Amino acid sequence: MSSAFDFEPQPRRASVAVDVGGVIVGGGAPVVVQSMTNTDTADVDQTVAQVAALHKAGSELVRITVDRDESAAAVPKIRERLLRLGIDVPLVGDFHYIGHKLLADHPACAEALAKYRINPGNVGFKDKKDKQFAEIIAMAMRYDKPVRIGVNWGSLDQELLTRLMDENQAKGFPLTAQQVTRETIVQSALLSAELAEELGLPRNRIILSAKVSGVQDLIAVYAMLAARSDHALHLGLTEAGMGTKGIVASSASLGILMQQGIGDTIRISLTPEPGGDRTREVQVAQELLQVMGFRQFIPVVAACPGCGRTTSTVFQELAQKIQEDIRASMPVWREKYPGVEALKVAVMGCIVNGPGESKHADIGISLPGTGETPAAPVFIDGQKAMTLRGPKIAEEFQLLVADYIEK
Ligand code: SF4
Repeated sequence: MSSAFDFEPQPRRASVAVDVGGVIVGGGAPVVVQSMTNTDTADVDQTVAQVAALHKAGSELVRITVDRDESAAAVPKIRERLLRLGIDVPLVGDFHYIGHKLLADHPACAEALAKYRINPGNVGFKDKKDKQFAEIIAMAMRYDKPVRIGVNWGSLDQELLTRLMDENQAKGFPLTAQQVTRETIVQSALLSAELAEELGLPRNRIILSAKVSGVQDLIAVYAMLAARSDHALHLGLTEAGMGTKGIVASSASLGILMQQGIGDTIRISLTPEPGGDRTREVQVAQELLQVMGFRQFIPVVAACPGCGRTTSTVFQELAQKIQEDIRASMPVWREKYPGVEALKVAVMGCIVNGPGESKHADIGISLPGTGETPAAPVFIDGQKAMTLRGPKIAEEFQLLVADYIEK
């Protein structure tokens, strides 16, 4: 028979800690939130602005594309400008195809970055693949930087896939094509990590990722990786998609993996709406970690969905306003009270669940539902503190929340 303990999160999988410019990934450190810019890295102004925005939103590492000489040349300038603004967020260089060449030709870029991301599926040109991989690893050792070996099934190592498909055929197809693909993804990451270690890169300089776009594939691939290595793991669903679909798919897959103790850093890859806010993915990552109880970032507003017992929108507007106010003060909260459990505020629509939910919050209000006496009890630290009445209930409650935060 299962017990309540069976539903607790599994202990974090033991992984080797990796220091990424002062941010520890793995080794039991809190799961790190990271993000990636979508500016042209050669455009220093735009990239600095976006890195700053992502960092302000809570991204603890920020990855930038380094795809050509102009972007490699811009990296040290970006780092310098950020430091002048007082922003010391580690920058991760995202390399494909010619990373070995860019790092060799731009030593200031190699130095300014805190980590190099390599894609074993396209690290070099076919016959020179191992040599170019070795060159990047040599650069990582020279500059004492960690690497992320980031497999992506959109650019999977085709030689390895063909070999494993052939082997599967020779054995009479014990695995489905989907299973062979998953195995290829996992092996691509593990073989590359093995090669990097043989070349001399220490284990505590290697992070692995294996991104796919299907939820079940992602869960399977990371469970396999977790079972077969102790490298720190970067989780992310690639091409998660737009809007609610991307949020739901990322949250479902990453949530299940983290519940199993798997994952040392996460990125939520959302396709922004045209002109949309890139920082949304950071907010989603933080909220995912927070709702699962792994980290505390922001004050929480619990609000009921409303129903036929409340026909006014007062409580929805109040919940929205309170959430906006306390999120605006979020950076202050984090700096002022590191490690303190985030504030919980409840804004409820009627007497059914209002008082109960409000008592569980640090401060909560139960607004009067349709037909109820126009009175709103306020609960502070689990005790009924007062009852608000009249047309200014919302404003008065906002003042009480501000006062509570201040105290
Ligand atoms: Fe409806 Fe009241 Fe429940 Fe809110 S607390 S959903 S208003 S019954």
